[in-house]
Amino acid sequence: MKVLLHVCCGPCAVYPLQRLCEDGHEVVGFFYNPNIHPYKEFSRRLETAREFAGKRQLNLLVDDRYQLEEFLRGALNAENGRCSMCYEIRLREAARMAKRQQCDCFSTSLLVSPFQKHELIRTIGEQIALTEQIPFLYIDFRSGWNEGVRISKELELYRQPYCGCIFSEQERYYKGCKEQKQCFQADLNPSAKV
Ligand code: SF4
Repeated sequence: MKVLLHVCCGPCAVYPLQRLCEDGHEVVGFFYNPNIHPYKEFSRRLETAREFAGKRQLNLLVDDRYQLEEFLRGALNAENGRCSMCYEIRLREAARMAKRQQCDCFSTSLLVSPFQKHELIRTIGEQIALTEQIPFLYIDFRSGWNEGVRISKELELYRQPYCGCIFSEQERYYKGCKEQKQCFQADLNPSAKV
């Protein structure tokens, strides 16, 4: 099949791309992540995604809109929580791009991370598949997380220390934030299993 793979960042795309190619699929990458803040971080992750695509000869389509105000408004007003909204906007755009590119289905590198809300991503992907009328290719890529981390380090790709939005940056760094997440601790804690 021709699969459009939404690329949330270069390192997370390592294993999904490898797995899809091993399974015999043709892959088109698509970077669309208006959830990443601030702009310097957004640019760095985009640059890394391009670097990765170059190293793996991946055809990477890029929508580089930096929709800060729109994202923040949506996140603060999200009825089902900001991550739900965040997955929804990215996956919907991926589904639409997949149709424009005449792909058979769409998927996302978000499915590789043990730190993301995996089942929520699956549910939203499957809902969008119905409304956009293009199949969502669900694969639990998490078994390849360790391998992806190892390869991304070999490729010397920049590995980000927080999920993306400014709220996740606060949770990562602001010591007073009670909801400190376990996200991305692995890179900073050498004893953690990644
Ligand atoms: S924590 Fe991550 S998934 Fe949730 S809203 Fe922020 S960037 Fe999106």
